[in-house]
Amino acid sequence: MKRWEIDEALREDKIWDIIVIGGGATGLGIAVDGASRGYSVLLLEEFDFAKGTSSRSTKLVHGGVRYLAQGNIKLVREALRERGLMLQNAPHLTRRQEFVVPVYSKWDKFFYGTGLKIYDVLAGSLGLGKTQILNTQETLDRIPVSEKMNLSGGIAYFDGQFDDARFAVNLAQTAMERGACVVNYVRVVNLLKKNGKVCGVVANDKYGGTGIELRAKAVINATGVFVDKILKLDDPSTPAMVAPSQGVHIVLDKKFYPSEAALMIPKTADKRVLFAVPWHNRVVVGTTDTPVSEILSEPLPYREEISFIIYHFNKYLTAQVRESDIKTVFTGLRPLVRSSNSGNTSILSRDHTIVVATSGLVTITGGKWTTYRKMAKDAVDNAAFVGKLPVMPCVTDHLKIHGWTDAVDNNDPLHIYGSDVAGIRSLMAEDPSLTELLHPDFHFTKAEVVWACRHEMAMTVEDVLARRLRLLFLDARAAIEVAPVVAEILANEGNKLICLDEFLKTAKGYLP
Ligand SMILES: Cc1cc2nc3c(=O)[nH]c(=O)nc-3n(C[C@H](O)[C@H](O)[C@H](O)COP(=O)(O)OP(=O)(O)OC[C@H]3O[C@@H](n4cnc5c(N)ncnc54)[C@H](O)[C@@H]3O)c2cc1C
Repeated sequence: MKRWEIDEALREDKIWDIIVIGGGATGLGIAVDGASRGYSVLLLEEFDFAKGTSSRSTKLVHGGVRYLAQGNIKLVREALRERGLMLQNAPHLTRRQEFVVPVYSKWDKFFYGTGLKIYDVLAGSLGLGKTQILNTQETLDRIPVSEKMNLSGGIAYFDGQFDDARFAVNLAQTAMERGACVVNYVRVVNLLKKNGKVCGVVANDKYGGTGIELRAKAVINATGVFVDKILKLDDPSTPAMVAPSQGVHIVLDKKFYPSEAALMIPKTADKRVLFAVPWHNRVVVGTTDTPVSEILSEPLPYREEISFIIYHFNKYLTAQVRESDIKTVFTGLRPLVRSSNSGNTSILSRDHTIVVATSGLVTITGGKWTTYRKMAKDAVDNAAFVGKLPVMPCVTDHLKIHGWTDAVDNNDPLHIYGSDVAGIRSLMAEDPSLTELLHPDFHFTKAEVVWACRHEMAMTVEDVLARRLRLLFLDARAAIEVAPVVAEILANEGNKLICLDEFLKTAKGYLP
């Protein structure tokens, strides 16, 4: 459905069971959960789905190997279960990925080998494959690591990999199919209260209409790193809940990392984790963990963060990259939940936190993409209690995500659309000009832009190029080049919120 066709829902004078603020992984998961239990759910997203942190992840569906090293078995076990369910419920968006940890001492081989075997055991029947201890040659056969550093072997293990923003878009569609109303470009600017209890929100619709009052029995604040802004609307004296930490990734051509296996360095010299993960025929390398004081919707990388990633890539791998080799740099903000006595973001809680205010406002933040479903379940349980909704069990364990198919052909460039491939192909059959490629170096076609506008609620050039086709995350220069053509297609589709100039400005922030 086109986005502007659902505007009517915002004019309805009804009391929703649940209003969700925020359309990232958490909010969208909540909309799917609530609607599939039978509750009436309205989700409002200020920008586009996954515009925030949820499109800027490392693209891993993982249990969190490093939380294992911290001894957080419960968190890892829970995440491994969620990893398994995510792969089962959305095979078109996820895949099993081999990772190799190169090791440089016998102790490390023993330590990481044992840890990763425990990781396998914790995954139980949802395991993705057996951890293997590799000798030096087997390690070099799998990943292009430098031999200069006295490599003493490696550990190969399996985790999952996915397309984060497309997962978010498919969650929005799943929620709508289950009866939720899910709307992008609507910003919550205030909360409605009656006798001190939150009973709705006031919202501005970028498509038209400000000060829209929407009522609900329960309101969930799922705004990620922005939760404090909503908490302050509820009670200006609420102390800040989130300590934001910035994570930067660079994207390189596959020639710098010609391997199917991903690389995982568990502890760089300054004790950070570094990944190099093949993704859509490129390689994503990162990340950093830098505390920041300002929370921006388009966070920018610091020069030192880019240098840090390049330095470590060049240190561990045979290829040598320069800043000019970078295709894209993207930056996300982690909503780490503050503990009152810690100044260091890398040890703050990465588990999710739910707070129910005296007003009844339910706030959920933290966690990770992989655990979005469990987070949603916990949030809806709380909202149902606060809103005195009839008790309904969560049914999302095995709920198939929009696009689910059991016939995923990873060699088909359209496989990421799952069962929607047929629809895109029929657009191409109706109008052969839509088979034209947007850019000669990428498989993206004009048909996908039309599809994004007609069926995925894309409104702007950025929605298409950043979160439907992912070109901005693969090659910022290529995205800038094709932007005018995308704008033209959106205009032909009758779209009025195209924002070409805004996109060109934003995209410059993705250039190194
Ligand atoms: C660098 C980095 C790498 C990561 N890698 C991984 C990984 O590989 N695997 C993994 O499992 N997890 C990973 N994570 C964690 C994961 O990405 C996040 O936990 C998750 O995306 C958070 O989703 P969210 O919905 O809570 O927040 P967000 O995605 O930020 O969504 C919040 C939404 O609320 C909206 N909003 C804000 N204010 C308002 C308002 N007033 N009205 C309406 N809407 C509003 C925002 O626009 C935003 O879209 C990573 C995180 C970072 C930072």
